[in-house]
Amino acid sequence: MQINYFAQLKQPHTHLVTVDVFLSDFEEKQNYLDIFLPVWSPGSYLVREYSRHIAVMKGYDQDRNALMVEKTNKSQWRVHWEWGNVQSIQLSYEVYCHELTVRTSHVDSEHAFLHGPTLWIGVLNQSVSSIHLHLDCPEHWKTISTALTLKYKENNQWCFSAKDYDELLDSPLELGNHFCETFKVKDKTHEVAIYGKSFLPINTLIADIETLVKTELALMSDPPYSHYVFIVHFVPALFGGLEHAQSTVLQFDGRTLLNRKEYVRWLGLVAHEYFHTWNVKRIRPRALGPFDYQQENYTDMLWLAEGLTSFMDDLFVLRSGLCSIEEYLEIQKDNLQRYYATYGRNVQSLAESSYDAWIKFYRPEENTANITVSYYLKGGLLFSALHCVLLTYGHRIDDFILRLWQRYCDNPEQGMDSEEVLAIIEDLTDANMRQKITNWIYGTDDIDFLSFYQIMAIAAQWEEAKELDLGCKIEAVNGRLMLKTVQRNAWAWNSGLNAGDELLAINGIRIYPEEAEKWMSFLAPQTEYLFLMARLGKVLELKLLTPDKEKRLTQLVSSNQEKTRALLS
Ligand SMILES: [Zn+2]
Repeated sequence: MQINYFAQLKQPHTHLVTVDVFLSDFEEKQNYLDIFLPVWSPGSYLVREYSRHIAVMKGYDQDRNALMVEKTNKSQWRVHWEWGNVQSIQLSYEVYCHELTVRTSHVDSEHAFLHGPTLWIGVLNQSVSSIHLHLDCPEHWKTISTALTLKYKENNQWCFSAKDYDELLDSPLELGNHFCETFKVKDKTHEVAIYGKSFLPINTLIADIETLVKTELALMSDPPYSHYVFIVHFVPALFGGLEHAQSTVLQFDGRTLLNRKEYVRWLGLVAHEYFHTWNVKRIRPRALGPFDYQQENYTDMLWLAEGLTSFMDDLFVLRSGLCSIEEYLEIQKDNLQRYYATYGRNVQSLAESSYDAWIKFYRPEENTANITVSYYLKGGLLFSALHCVLLTYGHRIDDFILRLWQRYCDNPEQGMDSEEVLAIIEDLTDANMRQKITNWIYGTDDIDFLSFYQIMAIAAQWEEAKELDLGCKIEAVNGRLMLKTVQRNAWAWNSGLNAGDELLAINGIRIYPEEAEKWMSFLAPQTEYLFLMARLGKVLELKLLTPDKEKRLTQLVSSNQEKTRALLS
């Protein structure tokens, strides 16, 4: 079957993309065709039901006679016709695109960001021999950035080809008049397409992306793509990234890039998404490709996909010379602090966290941190410990990654199972260590990360916290101080404070919404206070004894920077 998608964006201010899909050369004599729109996007493990943005699906034969289109489930349609009369069919629909995230589409008068799973329908039970995407843009839009192959361009009409439906979905497009710059590494063109603005000089931004690419390629050798596109959206308050096989989409608040900590975070995001080129887009859990776009694709191995990538991202920034060892250790300290503050680490294993990403990690609510642990966070820490373990066996994390890559190259069609990953670890260490790492993945016992870091001459410093840790998060919401989360078994939980409570006053003194970050510093330890709260429309008084100040991890320091740097490089 041949498929030609014609997307028309002539009135971008309406946020509508009009899509006409022409299908011809059916495989068998038949009188119906099943079509669907994906319900999720690979890399973002949540059913998002993109078809809710389509109002009507219409079908026509080659003579523009209307065909019956029957909806067969929330994201699937069956197009009917009389056998023998139809050689090709046309499907027509509009998609409303007005959500700017890495996994949704956004069209307005200035630009369009087209995310494949929200727009391009697929066909079931047909093998597709050719796919073309034709785009009809406003005349003043001069640029399109995408990993798809450009076939031709005439005025404001563009035509791209994809080798299959997966590549079409996996190749987002940025359209408009955005900034573009390219650089070459290992003979491959890397394009940086930036929509939006930042205060950072553009030369620095591009040069640092190029440095990160070179650092990652120093480990991975040859780029596994013909060209690569970084689509960047600098928009206030945005943060996120999504990996693709030959491109990535990065969203960040460009205004913050002159802040050193934010800039290092940005570099980590770039390094993270780019490393996914190998880890998850190629080296991958068995369930993650080929994909079933119509339902959840379960895997208990996101600790590999995201954990390893999370450990490597900051490491690549360090290895690139773009952050100092102190900045690197500060990030690792923050990670450990977040880990210690997550009660759910006692409840959920990395494997369980991965499997339930669809219903827990991607749908956080007040109790999430009490019953889950992030496979990014604990997964990243696990690989930091594995790196230390490997050092004691004369290896490093790089050897593990190259073994994973070799396995991918040997059998690229099939993803990996955890047995294969553990076998590589055993090969690089021994059977005892394999068992230990298995427990880290499938168990909930705490891992003594700090003792492993000593191998790299990294020590932890603990100090009494400056303020009380009451075990709850309070945020200002619509001018009210609301308890957002209450940590299980911590002080607030044991004292009977609830998520959803509003804090009004303590000892008759008003606490104001703008003090959400600092009100705890007003209180002394081991002292009784009268909390005035509001809950479900009632006001209540609670006499509560504050806890002692706790010791908190304040710093990771290297006692021998030369050694630490050498063992991390
Ligand atoms: Zn990731």
